[in-house]
Amino acid sequence: MAKRLDDCPAQNCSAGAGRQSELRPPYYAEIPEASREKIEARTKNGVFDVPILRCTYCGCVYGKFPVRRHIFGWLDNSVTGEKWSDSREL
Ligand SMILES: [Zn+2]
Repeated sequence: MAKRLDDCPAQNCSAGAGRQSELRPPYYAEIPEASREKIEARTKNGVFDVPILRCTYCGCVYGKFPVRRHIFGWLDNSVTGEKWSDSREL
C-alpha cells in the first residue's frame, strides 16, 4: 500500500495522518540524551527547526523535513515493549 505524506513513515505501520502528533517535551525527555543529541544535530540546522513528530500507534519518532520524513527511532513501542530504540538511520 502506498503511503501518503502525512501517514506514519514506518514501513510496517499503517497508521494514517490522524495518529501523527507533535512530539511533546515530556515525551522528548524520555529519549536518552545520546539519541537526543543525534536528533538535534539533524533537526536544528541554524536556519529552521525541523518539526519532530510521533506516531501514537507504533511510537515512531521522526523529523518532518521539507522533502521527506526521517525516522529517528521508536518511543514506547507497545509491540516490542521497549522504552526507546534508535532507528538504523539515526
Ligand atoms: Zn506508526
